[in-house]
Amino acid sequence: MGNNIKLVAKETIKNLFTKGIEPTPNEYHKEFCSIAKEYKLNTKECIQFKELVSKLNKEEQEEIKSKNITTFEDMIPILLNRVATKNLKTLTSLFQDSMTPSISIGLDEKLTKFSVKIGNSPALLFEEDIQKEMQSFITKRFEADKKVVQEKTAEIAKLVTLMGRHLNEAISSSGNSGTEVSNIKDEIQAINLSNNGIQELTNLQSKLINAAMSIENEMNQVGEKLSSGKDKVEELEEKVKKLEDELSKSKQESLKDHLTGVLTRKAYEYEAKKVEENYKRNDTQYAIVFFDIDHFKAINDTYGHAGGDMILSTFGKILSKYTRDMDIVGRYGGEEFIAIIHFNLKRELLKYLKRIKSIVNENNFVYGKNKIRITFSAGVTIRNDHESYESAIQKADVLLYKAKEDGRNKIILEDNTCI
Ligand code: GH3
Ligand code: MG
Ligand code: MG
Repeated sequence: MGNNIKLVAKETIKNLFTKGIEPTPNEYHKEFCSIAKEYKLNTKECIQFKELVSKLNKEEQEEIKSKNITTFEDMIPILLNRVATKNLKTLTSLFQDSMTPSISIGLDEKLTKFSVKIGNSPALLFEEDIQKEMQSFITKRFEADKKVVQEKTAEIAKLVTLMGRHLNEAISSSGNSGTEVSNIKDEIQAINLSNNGIQELTNLQSKLINAAMSIENEMNQVGEKLSSGKDKVEELEEKVKKLEDELSKSKQESLKDHLTGVLTRKAYEYEAKKVEENYKRNDTQYAIVFFDIDHFKAINDTYGHAGGDMILSTFGKILSKYTRDMDIVGRYGGEEFIAIIHFNLKRELLKYLKRIKSIVNENNFVYGKNKIRITFSAGVTIRNDHESYESAIQKADVLLYKAKEDGRNKIILEDNTCI
């Protein structure tokens, strides 16, 4: 073997010389290995080169083959193309990150093993098979993340809907809102987010629950305030109603003449206006009656002013009692009264007038020991026979005077009917 090496070395130098190749260590190594091959001499140096080439990746091996590289020196540029190991490690961890799903934590064992494998030998990144596998992990990673985002979006939508309902309940419902709010809160709590372990969403869930709880508390407080307020309001309402009743009673009373209990002149005018408006709107029919007590001055003279007052008061009571609520009686002035009487058939009106007359005439007006009899005269017109209310009332006044002139204790109508 030693001789063979010497022979190969001799031949090498000779060849380099004949071929005119400068005998640099590299050229010498190249020529030496090629001759050693011919001599089937496996020197350590030549074997080492081969072994190194076999450790290179496919592309590097092909390059070595195509460029006919046989020496370590010539291999250097190819190896220099390689990324520095330090950078490769960084690159490896970057790739690992890009393959790991960021949202879905359902990381499978395969990926863990794969990452460990690359971590141990970063150079594997240059292997085509490894790159393909990486590609498939990245695709899977996107799918996993997408799926989780879709699921979570649906859950968030559900949470938002629930919160919306929650607020609606809180705003619109009254007493039992507290329990409804707490039902909704339970529903929010029941949404299973924690299984997926996504911290942000779990945080969101607890924030929503907190919000629900604070709304619930507020609702309870408001509820308490409302119910105690309600009692106070009811109390006040009662008071207000009482005052209103009293007010309307006193208002009603102020509308009435103290002595006679019928409407005052002013109140009568107001009510008459309403009757007139109603008459114009609806086809109603009413009569205006002017009453005047006969020889009242004489009553005053005989029984005194108080006696006169008693007569006026009783006369007013009779008119009030025998006139329906829908009709109106007022004291027009002194011992003069006025009435508005609704009717459908004329005989109804006549019946009313006759009734008043007979009651007044037949009634003993008692004043102390005195039983006084009185009469009255009246003029009656029917509104429908006149252009206006004014014209009808004027004519009733004229007819009253006519009744006086004709001897008193008479009720005269426009058609000359006399009661
Ligand atoms: P005639 O039959 O024409 O109606 O005669 P009369 O005496 O009833 O009419 P007259 O108008 O001359 O007198 C009415 C009297 O009524 C005059 C007035 O003093 C009296 N009088 C008016 N208001 C009151 C009142 O409130 N109380 C009393 N007691 N008398 C009154
Ligand atoms: Mg009179
Ligand atoms: Mg008079």
